[in-house]
Amino acid sequence: MKKKIVVAGGSFGGLTAALEVKRLLGDKADVILISSDKDFVFMPSLPWIIMGSRQPADITLRVADILKPKAINFIHDTVKAVMPDELKIQTEKGEYEYDYLIISTGPHLSCDEIPGLSPEQGYTNCTFSMEQALKSRGAWNKLLENPGPIVLGSTQMASCFGPYYELVFEMDQELRKRKMRHKVPITYLTSEPYLGHMGVGGLGKSRRFMEDEFAALDIQTVTNQSIDEITPDEIRLAGGGKLPFKLAMLAPPFKGVQGVASLGNPRGFIPTDNYYRHPKHSNIYTIGVAMALAPAEPTPVPTGVPKTGFMTVKMAKAAAANIAADIRHLSPSREKELSVICFMDMGKSAALMVAEPILPPRQKSFLKKAWWVKAAKIQFEKYFLWKMRHGYSQLP
Ligand SMILES: Cc1cc2nc3c(=O)[nH]c(=O)nc-3n(C[C@H](O)[C@H](O)[C@H](O)COP(=O)(O)OP(=O)(O)OC[C@H]3O[C@@H](n4cnc5c(N)ncnc54)[C@H](O)[C@@H]3O)c2cc1C
Repeated sequence: MKKKIVVAGGSFGGLTAALEVKRLLGDKADVILISSDKDFVFMPSLPWIIMGSRQPADITLRVADILKPKAINFIHDTVKAVMPDELKIQTEKGEYEYDYLIISTGPHLSCDEIPGLSPEQGYTNCTFSMEQALKSRGAWNKLLENPGPIVLGSTQMASCFGPYYELVFEMDQELRKRKMRHKVPITYLTSEPYLGHMGVGGLGKSRRFMEDEFAALDIQTVTNQSIDEITPDEIRLAGGGKLPFKLAMLAPPFKGVQGVASLGNPRGFIPTDNYYRHPKHSNIYTIGVAMALAPAEPTPVPTGVPKTGFMTVKMAKAAAANIAADIRHLSPSREKELSVICFMDMGKSAALMVAEPILPPRQKSFLKKAWWVKAAKIQFEKYFLWKMRHGYSQLP
């Protein structure tokens, strides 16, 4: 009998997992993908949307267009609850039964934890969706007309740091090009215990590297800091300091998405065994940002471990291979492989960062800044969008 495989989420993890499981099982499985978003957005390029060097159509694909030729059913809907004992999920529009469930629903941005923090109800911007990036682009353009202080970085409990480092370099460069940098103080404010920590205890020489780069560009830094409140023109720091701003872009605290959080830890991130299976419900797999991943050691101000797109795609392939093995009555073989390769844009150039495994102690870890890394980053964007457009999930 055909197995019913339901995938929740249509981004790096969900799309890859759905394509892979169908590729591996063919007629043996009915695969459906349920996602709140009709589009796949290549999020690593959202900072370029803000800076105006990309338009939405350049980095957006329709999920249904990718899945249809592969005989995978796309349902534009939102998961509201998982009922693991009944092998069902409830969505806004209905109910779906499953034999296997793959969860890749990403983060819930928990802006309510800090008064005034939110692109919708508060005074800060961020960059986790196309809508937010376009709003941030509007705020950036307004700042160029009416210059003043910028604050970029992350709040307590955030687990995404890279894009805010990129924006520091990109905004600094653009302001210098316009001969405006002296009118715009830039502060990098972060929950990380030190510059370059990035939620993973640093990568190679990232601490010294970031300290030197920021010093050379006259970027002020406030590290190891949590935020009490944000008003229309200042960030009130725990312990009493204040940072005035005209433009503030901050990664909010992360939680798991509500519809699946009942399977997870107190912040809604879902634990897995070494094969991405839920410890109690072995037919539920969780990958990407939705998965619980404890830091190597707690930081004084809590930060989360980032689960990058690179890691998420690897997790998706492993989860799909393990489901295919289970259906064929074989043992799962793909264990958690949590290493990372990342291209960080730095304006004119970029830095290649590698950590293997993601958390220390590591076998391999390095950071290299070079012009060719920037070229590689641009080529990777094109390659990944081409690969996803054609559903070639088996490619690296
Ligand atoms: C600005 C930015 C830059 C980045 N740069 C890089 C980079 O350079 N390199 C890198 O490797 N990684 C990068 N990342 C990280 C990368 O984007 C994430 O690791 C990746 O998006 C995680 O994929 P995911 O599938 O876990 O979740 P997400 O991409 O967050 O997707 C979640 C999906 O689930 C859907 N969903 C949410 N809730 C529900 C629900 N209840 N029911 C149904 N569907 C739901 C959403 O609509 C979405 O389709 C960047 C991230 C950002 C924000």
